[in-house]
Amino acid sequence: MDTPDHPLTTTEPVGAKDNICPAPAPVAAQDDRKTIFFDMDDVLVDYTGGYALVSPAELEAAGGQLKNVPGIFARLCPMPGALTAVKALARQYECHILSTAPWENPSAWSDKVYWIFRHFGSDRESPFYKRINLTHDKGTFCGDYLIDDRNKHGVVRFSGLWLKFGSERFPDWPAVLAFLLPK
Ligand SMILES: [Mg+2]
Repeated sequence: MDTPDHPLTTTEPVGAKDNICPAPAPVAAQDDRKTIFFDMDDVLVDYTGGYALVSPAELEAAGGQLKNVPGIFARLCPMPGALTAVKALARQYECHILSTAPWENPSAWSDKVYWIFRHFGSDRESPFYKRINLTHDKGTFCGDYLIDDRNKHGVVRFSGLWLKFGSERFPDWPAVLAFLLPK
């Protein structure tokens, strides 16, 4: 039987053809600055406060799950101090979003992007310009710091230092800034 004429069916060593690339280096800073990955819900975004923004009927229609209310992620407010903290950190660090969007609520994926555009802009001046990562496995990412309030979705496998937002050590944004931008 003839070998199918397909570029990936080859007996040559892996990497011998241009169609098979060597493994890339881990995702790292695009410049000399250290990297910070930011979770969104209850870190940049007041997700818990969202319960006050929906009607009982909306919540019931979403099976009692706030995360599944259509459009909810575009309506949420920033956490106190989050916007000014990001802007201050962006002067010294390369900033990335690292957030999970609910699988059952497709609008959440775009709503999270629009939320970032609304509060930080969408152009090159945004601290998150083309650095928005929505994933269910944060453990596949590599950086210096991850600011996240929970250990879900692979947080404990993140390669850098996890600053647990809302913990005794990092209860709020002033505490995070004191650690990352010491005087
Ligand atoms: Mg969170």
